[in-house]
Amino acid sequence: MLAPRILKKLEEMLDKEKVVSDWETRLTYAYDAQVEESIPSAVVFPQNEEEIANVMRLAYEEEFYIVPRGAGTGLSGGSVPLKNALVLSLEKMNQIVEINEEDLYAVVQAGVITLELQNAVEKKGLFYPPDPASAKVSTLGGNIAENAGGLRGFKYGVTRDYVLSMKAISPSGEFLMLGAKTIKSVSGYDLPSLFCGSEGTLGIVCEATLKLLPLPEAWSAMLLIFPTLDKASEAVSLIIAEGIVPSSLEIMDNFTINAVEDYKRLGLPRDAGAIVLIEVDGYRESVEREMGKIEALLPKMGAKEVRRAREQSERENIWEGRRSALAALARISPTTLLEDVTVPRSRLSKMVREIEKIARKHNLLIGTFGHAGDGNLHPTFLTDWRNEEERERVKVAIEELFSAAVELGGTLSGEHGIGLVKAPFLPREFNQATIEVMKAIKRALDPKGLLNPGKIFPS
Ligand SMILES: Cc1cc2nc3c(=O)[nH]c(=O)nc-3n(C[C@H](O)[C@H](O)[C@H](O)COP(=O)(O)OP(=O)(O)OC[C@H]3O[C@@H](n4cnc5c(N)ncnc54)[C@H](O)[C@@H]3O)c2cc1C
Repeated sequence: MLAPRILKKLEEMLDKEKVVSDWETRLTYAYDAQVEESIPSAVVFPQNEEEIANVMRLAYEEEFYIVPRGAGTGLSGGSVPLKNALVLSLEKMNQIVEINEEDLYAVVQAGVITLELQNAVEKKGLFYPPDPASAKVSTLGGNIAENAGGLRGFKYGVTRDYVLSMKAISPSGEFLMLGAKTIKSVSGYDLPSLFCGSEGTLGIVCEATLKLLPLPEAWSAMLLIFPTLDKASEAVSLIIAEGIVPSSLEIMDNFTINAVEDYKRLGLPRDAGAIVLIEVDGYRESVEREMGKIEALLPKMGAKEVRRAREQSERENIWEGRRSALAALARISPTTLLEDVTVPRSRLSKMVREIEKIARKHNLLIGTFGHAGDGNLHPTFLTDWRNEEERERVKVAIEELFSAAVELGGTLSGEHGIGLVKAPFLPREFNQATIEVMKAIKRALDPKGLLNPGKIFPS
């Protein structure tokens, strides 16, 4: 717990109702979606940059830990308040400040929900492409801090590709202006990129200027049904090798299809070995041409069946199925551990085979789905952490999974971050000299090590 005099100071600098330390609230803010637990000392809800800076200055003077938090949908334990930290919630910083239709950008506070920005710009004929499957809940600040990817990564990239500039507060309470509102800027180091994916360890993102695109004129979605996951992943590589650039290119195995069907009853093919979900967007003529190219590849791909969405409701069904994958799997067992390995796209089917081998070897339930077009898979372990014997098997299996990804030239995390749960494995991917560079950056910005302790680096 924070000393009562510090709580009092916080109540004096923010309004009293913005400082909460009752047990229920602290318990609520003890988790993220990976369900790691650590109880915070209290939770504060600042409403503007000055309030955030004041809290940070107090933390720096009094030397207590701070953990920034958006919506808590993170999947690597990033917003879990280790060391009894004070949680600084951005959820009241939820204003869309400006949508600039001339210069194609939006200025948003960090706590704006991703989908709210997507909807607001769409009404003006504009498009904010980053689309994590959690978009209905996640915040843009959390997306920036995790450099979130999502369903449109293949064509449109990740959050970092849309951050032009941001306002942030340093761990000692200084105001930082990172980047510029212009489409180009090479004035000094690329600090917006450094903050993207920094997992709340370098500073608090308060406001961001995000690049927008014109809304694509047309779309077309289809679902391809395959006899095996292997065939489905080979089909993904074929599509990519053909030079086709769908906006979404997703995959789901038989286990996940059935979990989604049990949960949502969307009419997905229960007997398919795997499905590939595709969306193409752009000008009407180019959409038809790209869809035609995919259809021409079908005999070579070995798809059993093709379903093309003709109506908006059919399109929504396809994506609702994909977005619910994690929630559907999470209903099956007491513990759900979602991984995030990413390999070069050409190695996707090799990675899929490794996952299947690991599941068989350790006799474990793994549902696999993910952003196949990005080489990013989410093998999801369905287990019961209370069963010690099974827990040990899962731990070994996860280590083997990481080793397989790195050996295939891949990475531990494509989009969910290292956070707490993958910190011990960082040296698998980087040598010590590289990790020391990252630590030096952390020390330069946070010399007292008070911001989001215990994340990214192995302890
Ligand atoms: C069902 C489901 C589907 C998902 N799908 C995807 C997906 O498709 N793609 C993907 O990339 N992720 C996905 N995620 C993971 C998660 O939604 C993203 O990582 C998201 O960006 C987290 O946003 P948040 O607001 O919930 O952040 P939180 O979980 O609250 O925080 C995440 C990290 O960011 C830091 N942080 C939060 N706000 C700030 C801020 N303003 N300043 C500094 N640091 C901050 C926190 O300290 C923490 O380290 C999914 C999660 C779920 C539960």
